[in-house]
Amino acid sequence: MTTYKTQIFHIRKHNFEKILKEAASVIKNGGTVAFPTETVYGLGADALNSSAVRSIFQAKGRPADNPLIVHVFSKEQCNELVEIIPKKASILMDKFWPGPLTVIMQRKEIVPDITTGGLDTVALRMPDSKIATKLIELSGKAIAAPSANLSGKPSPTIAGHVITDLSGRIDAIIDGGPVELGVESTVIDMTTEPPAILRPGKISQQDIEGEIGPVNVAYDDKVHHGDKIVRSPGMKYTHYSPDVNVILVEGKNEDVIAKISQMLLDHGKNDEKVGLILTEESIEFFKSSKIFSLGEKDRPEKAAARIFFGLRHMDENKVDLIIVDGSFSRIGVGAAVGDRIRKAARSIIEV
Ligand code: AMP
Ligand code: MG
Repeated sequence: MTTYKTQIFHIRKHNFEKILKEAASVIKNGGTVAFPTETVYGLGADALNSSAVRSIFQAKGRPADNPLIVHVFSKEQCNELVEIIPKKASILMDKFWPGPLTVIMQRKEIVPDITTGGLDTVALRMPDSKIATKLIELSGKAIAAPSANLSGKPSPTIAGHVITDLSGRIDAIIDGGPVELGVESTVIDMTTEPPAILRPGKISQQDIEGEIGPVNVAYDDKVHHGDKIVRSPGMKYTHYSPDVNVILVEGKNEDVIAKISQMLLDHGKNDEKVGLILTEESIEFFKSSKIFSLGEKDRPEKAAARIFFGLRHMDENKVDLIIVDGSFSRIGVGAAVGDRIRKAARSIIEV
């Protein structure tokens, strides 16, 4: 594939406008720019330019049938992309935009096949990030942007992760510091009745039902890598996985601590270097130097901000195996953290 000289922009207060103008001109010219949103870093290109969107798929090594989320800077901009905005979709957009909610609607023909993975629907989101919305506004384009990682790897939460994965494969990276949330948006399909949540995120089923009444949950929180029909094409691929095996241990905190202690005895015999990703409550029970904290088990927003960072941290430390303490709360954004780590894990042990 083509080798790019990847330009890195460091955003500071005094150069905000200047840098975003430069980055916007890269987008206007059909290039690829990685940028921070409030969820994770995205890899953006003009959503209506097929060859620009093709560069995203090539840079990431993303399967062609996995559609991209298209980012807009206003609700009005959606009219260019979708036939009609259904009433319930409009209610959700008014309530949760800008924010981590992606809404799927019938696309207009102007949206190319490559952007939607050949589907007749398109996924839209208005990010709650000044850098992202300014970039979209200045470019005058809707920006297709999946997470800015190599396909299958953990999503990037700092610019350094993007550099590791995509340097030499894209035109530019905007370094805007660490992201706020750390897990990707909730995805909801508004083309069915009732609408269906395809991916959990910070905006929960309860949050959504509070606005528009009952919705279905179409993501699978029990089986992973299952051999079944999935509606969100991205759900069938390996996801969020570091280079080494991840074992997730789920259950009550004290049971998880006991199980991991026993597993460490077994793995110690094989001289394996084990990385531990633990809740704050578990840390005092372990002595290994390769420990990463997810924060207190009842603060899932901390786990959200730290989980992908932790997986990448363990890869950088060249461990042979990662064990994750899954005793953190699954309430609110905890459901999304649980979903991501289950997909990243090679095996899940319930105790
Ligand atoms: P990413 O941008 O890497 O966070 O992935 C976007 C997610 O949204 C993937 O799981 C896609 O499969 C899903 N998605 C995007 N567009 C559609 C669509 N039109 N229908 C169903 N799922 C979609
Ligand atoms: Mg992704």
